[in-house]
Amino acid sequence: MVLNDMEGKIAIVGGGISGLATALALKRIGLTVSIYEKKAENSRTGSGIVLGSNALRALDYLGVLPQIQERGISSNQYFIFDNHGKPITTLHSEQTVYPLYTFIHRKDLIDILLNALSDEHIFYKKKLVFFTTNHKKSQLFFEDGTIVKTDYLLACDGIHSAIRNQLFPDKHLRYAGYTCWRGVLENSYDHCLPFYSETWGAKGRFGIIPLTNNRLYWYALKNGEPNDTRLHEWGTDELLSNFSEYHHPIPTIIENTLDKDVTRRDIYDLESLFHYVYDRILLLGDAAHATTPNLGQGACLAIEDAVFLAKCAEQDKHLETAMTSFEKIRLARTKKVVHESWMFGKIAQIDIPFICSVRNMVMKWTPASFHQSRLQVLQNLTL
Ligand SMILES: Cc1cc2nc3c(=O)[nH]c(=O)nc-3n(C[C@H](O)[C@H](O)[C@H](O)COP(=O)(O)OP(=O)(O)OC[C@H]3O[C@@H](n4cnc5c(N)ncnc54)[C@H](O)[C@@H]3O)c2cc1C
Repeated sequence: MVLNDMEGKIAIVGGGISGLATALALKRIGLTVSIYEKKAENSRTGSGIVLGSNALRALDYLGVLPQIQERGISSNQYFIFDNHGKPITTLHSEQTVYPLYTFIHRKDLIDILLNALSDEHIFYKKKLVFFTTNHKKSQLFFEDGTIVKTDYLLACDGIHSAIRNQLFPDKHLRYAGYTCWRGVLENSYDHCLPFYSETWGAKGRFGIIPLTNNRLYWYALKNGEPNDTRLHEWGTDELLSNFSEYHHPIPTIIENTLDKDVTRRDIYDLESLFHYVYDRILLLGDAAHATTPNLGQGACLAIEDAVFLAKCAEQDKHLETAMTSFEKIRLARTKKVVHESWMFGKIAQIDIPFICSVRNMVMKWTPASFHQSRLQVLQNLTL
């Protein structure tokens, strides 16, 4: 369907998960966009990512579910262990249409979205520096001197969004209190558990996730000051020493991972915004509602955003009003997920041994159905 009255240039800044999913969703309703991405083509790396059932439903709408299923691994279970390997709780879902979790390498997810967008205009090495707007049109100024005029500007430029910083300079990122290492282990045959698990202990949190092609994605989280130079220098040797007393296969996984396959990042989320729309400019994905990764929902929300924007555009027949409808629908849900994820992180990152034991006991006594129902509320998505 071509929405003729929406004709006008649409620019997306940022060609990550949000930018590509948004372009694909708009393409499905007949709208063409130009994407401006600061990185070079084929420069994408990254580790694994967990997609909840809500993201799978949205990816189904985008028409790429078979490709995701082919390159991902799905599971309806999630285990939390203590550092000795004893289960604290198990989440299990009987959900039939879409699995509770699907695990995929980020690069595979990006490739799938890019392939589905084959004829879209993507301009690489285009770093937006600033923009001007007269409420109807915006002018985008790129680092290489290019200037682009556009009728609609979709900001998909991530947690450090230059567009958001210009629109809402008083909105700040909030440091969560911990840093995160992510690694991918190739040839993980001997160490791979066929399900998603996290291990909680006073020395930090460790997640293990199977990927296709005999790979394994793992992450480790540890409390620290923001920009903690001591932790920032940690490689696999220091991680191994920190997690050496954790249950099998955690030390083996760290020991077998190459330093070059590990990245580290301090964890932040974004103070809630009151608006995602400013005239004909719309913030999406992490630019709008960056969340801590504790519930594995940041990218899922970005994919949801894409679908909701397209749905609003289909209904409203005009992109400007569709943006306002989108904001009305999305503010409450995204705020809730960001909050729940922050709170989950506070509980999971407790590092005082006695309080860890109490927490683990309370979680063991709480019926798993309680945790499951909370998770399902977050992952339920009606399109
Ligand atoms: C440790 C960790 C683990 C996570 N795990 C999960 C998970 O398991 N599941 C999940 O759903 N989410 C997870 N997330 C969150 C997820 O990574 C983000 O929510 C998701 O990547 C957001 O997508 P985005 O496109 O909005 O932003 P980004 O992925 O940051 O993409 C932004 C894009 O914009 C480009 N860009 C930035 N600035 C400019 C500019 N000025 N000009 C042009 N281009 C620009 C960037 O190069 C990038 O390509 C995790 C996050 C972290 C930190």
